[in-house]
Amino acid sequence: MCFKSIKTATIDIHGAKYLTINFRKASRIAISALTPNKPHHAQWMITRKCNYRCRGCNVWKEQDKRELSTEEVKRGLDILKDLGIVELVISGGDPLLRKDAPEIIKHASNLFVTTVYDNGSMAKQNLEALRNVDFVAISIDSLDPEKNDYIKAVPGAWKKAVDAVETLHNEGINVSVTPTISQLNLYEIVDITNHFTQKGVPVWYCLYTFDQTGDENQLFRIGKANDEFIIKDKQAMVKLCDTLIEMKKKNRNILITTKLLQALRALFLEGKRTWECRALQNFLVLDHLGRIAGCHNHNFVGSVFDLPEIWHSEKFNALRKTYNECSQCSYLCYIFYSLYGSPYGNLMLAKDQWKNARFLLER
Ligand code: SF4
Ligand code: SF4
Repeated sequence: MCFKSIKTATIDIHGAKYLTINFRKASRIAISALTPNKPHHAQWMITRKCNYRCRGCNVWKEQDKRELSTEEVKRGLDILKDLGIVELVISGGDPLLRKDAPEIIKHASNLFVTTVYDNGSMAKQNLEALRNVDFVAISIDSLDPEKNDYIKAVPGAWKKAVDAVETLHNEGINVSVTPTISQLNLYEIVDITNHFTQKGVPVWYCLYTFDQTGDENQLFRIGKANDEFIIKDKQAMVKLCDTLIEMKKKNRNILITTKLLQALRALFLEGKRTWECRALQNFLVLDHLGRIAGCHNHNFVGSVFDLPEIWHSEKFNALRKTYNECSQCSYLCYIFYSLYGSPYGNLMLAKDQWKNARFLLER
């Protein structure tokens, strides 16, 4: 068949078929995913503004009106594409608070498998822009509106978020719900998962952890030692991992991978880290001023505009070694991209993601 005639492809991300993407993008991403020694994932916090006051977060306490211009962000996205980035998360603050968010999202969506995070307050006003993205992730931490709004510290947050999820889902936009697992909602994560996946809405998770970094210039800070969110019931966390591993066998809308759940289980059961961190190898983060870091827990190491020169530098190689040995955090995304950071891991991800694209090529 003539490949030029293929306009779109459905791909499989984290085990779920949801995406319809431009074929040129699909083939570029497939090649990048299979090329060794390239970063796979970037998270860009394009704004430091937020309209929420979540209790476990410091971003809203340290807001900054400064931002890169639209053209600068687009130039940075092109650089990330040239570096080989496959998956991009656009977050903040709330990224949809930027007036130029639709233009940025459109540009990013042409280049990457793109996810946009929203606290649930802005998605409905941005429906047209969000039609371009591969996933919209909306944060809902409880089925109990009162508890959810306590965590977000904004009255009405639950209602807005649930309304946004329903609206986006009904509009055919690939929306997923992303609860942050903490001691406050640990015992209802299975119920939250069932509630949304039974409606056909996929669920991914974040994990609440306390940042123990000694780096004062870290990108942002989450949590306090011994606050009410820190998971104290480790046995319940192990049980949750076991339950989700079982549930995944029948429920394709649970997006977290079994390998990641097994790593979490070992961490909570034995305190054992079964992965080496691959910050600044397989993933990197960027802030609202275009500064880059291996993860949000460490200091900036350069600017996105210098990336082509510094990515292969001695300085970066030394930092990679330091991060390899670091065990200061257990954020799910960082563990995920560390677990799948080897060439073999990339191959496994690519195999999952491109099952359906391959089907198109074979027709
Ligand atoms: S967690 Fe997100 S939505 Fe909540 S205050 Fe922090 S940046 Fe804003
Ligand atoms: S383990 Fe990795 S992601 Fe976590 S703080 Fe250390 S370098 Fe950063």
